[in-house]
Amino acid sequence: MTKSVSIFGATGSVGQSTLDLIRQHPEDYNVIALTANGNADELAALAKEFSAQVAVVADEAAYDCLKQRLAGTSIEASSGPDALIAAAGLGADWTMAAIVGCAGLPPTLEALRSGKTVALANKEALVSAGALMMAEAEKAGATLLPVDSEHNAIFQALQGGQIQQVRKITLTASGGPFRTWTREQMASVTPEQAVAHPNWDMGAKISIDSATMMNKGLELIEAHYLFPVGLENIEILVHPQSVIHSMVEYQDRSTLAQLGSPDMRIPIANALAWPERMTTNCEPLNLVEISRLDFEQPDESRFPATKIARAAITAGGATPAMLNAANEVAVAAFLNGAVQFLDITEIVTRLLDSYSPPEPNALADIFAIDKETRVRTEQLVEGLQV
Ligand code: NDP
Repeated sequence: MTKSVSIFGATGSVGQSTLDLIRQHPEDYNVIALTANGNADELAALAKEFSAQVAVVADEAAYDCLKQRLAGTSIEASSGPDALIAAAGLGADWTMAAIVGCAGLPPTLEALRSGKTVALANKEALVSAGALMMAEAEKAGATLLPVDSEHNAIFQALQGGQIQQVRKITLTASGGPFRTWTREQMASVTPEQAVAHPNWDMGAKISIDSATMMNKGLELIEAHYLFPVGLENIEILVHPQSVIHSMVEYQDRSTLAQLGSPDMRIPIANALAWPERMTTNCEPLNLVEISRLDFEQPDESRFPATKIARAAITAGGATPAMLNAANEVAVAAFLNGAVQFLDITEIVTRLLDSYSPPEPNALADIFAIDKETRVRTEQLVEGLQV
């Protein structure tokens, strides 16, 4: 039986990896909706290749181009935030949430509300609205499958026991391109140096997050919502080779780890075929060639992001959403050359210290916090501009 699938963020790194797996098994999947932000050319080409029913660009300025590229096909073109939500409500059996940033939250929530399966790459949505998203998923009886390699590894390791038998979850971290650098060396790094991840080929935003280690901070928050074992039982371990993607230690002191080549198609394949397994053409793991695996304690004096994230979960309320929005703005400012690398976590810290909105109770509250935080963070960026 074919599985109907929709991919939000189809033109991005995770979206393309997902489509590559579908390309390897065309008979098993039927594409309903594909979306992008402004990249209408690429989206139209993918929609035609996979005979999608609907193609959506979030940016309304890209609509004419999309419509023109799809002329003469039966693929429906649409644009704007409401069109994204409508596409998420089409009831695909399986939805990949791979939009970058909090912009992915509304369609992801809509897909969860349909009670089907959502594969979650878009960690910013969960960081901003974790409690709300988990509640919506439960209410609708939806299945939320983690795609982030660490969370997918934990998800797989948890199939060997029960969550209440878990003693500790270990999130592994590559340490990013500046793992061995001093703060002085990091002060002058360029966006080009920071996006060049040693192990993974990813979009620009997550690559910068990996370099600051805010990615691990966001993942800590993500793990806290996905795997309720208590924040104090989730630790971070630097593992430069990115072979062990994360581990679960049970109460009997058995530790289950998931290993694989650093290729996002492997965790995506797990989520795409779940509860089955699919074949892939990914590189097999060659441990003889790798020959050794190294581990280090994270150094929060050089990389404070994980400490900031841990404090944000403990503070609760609006704080994780503020952390995410401030980080998105700070990363964009660094990529545009407006601020320096070390300013990113400094800006997030200053923003979190600067105001305390009331606890969000609904999606509208989250959006209001997100919007207000972005305005305030832009002001901090202006004050720091290089
Ligand atoms: P990319 O930057 O490569 O792709 C982002 C996708 O989102 C593109 O399709 C882009 O469209 C679309 N998009 C961007 N902004 C908006 C918006 N405002 N509204 C709607 N769509 C938008 O990102 P990645 O694929 O690297 O990452 C996607 C998500 O997955 C992130 O949350 C990231 O943290 C997470 N993730 C990524 C991993 C990776 O290996 N890349 C690993 C684990 C998690 P367009 O092309 O038109 O700009």
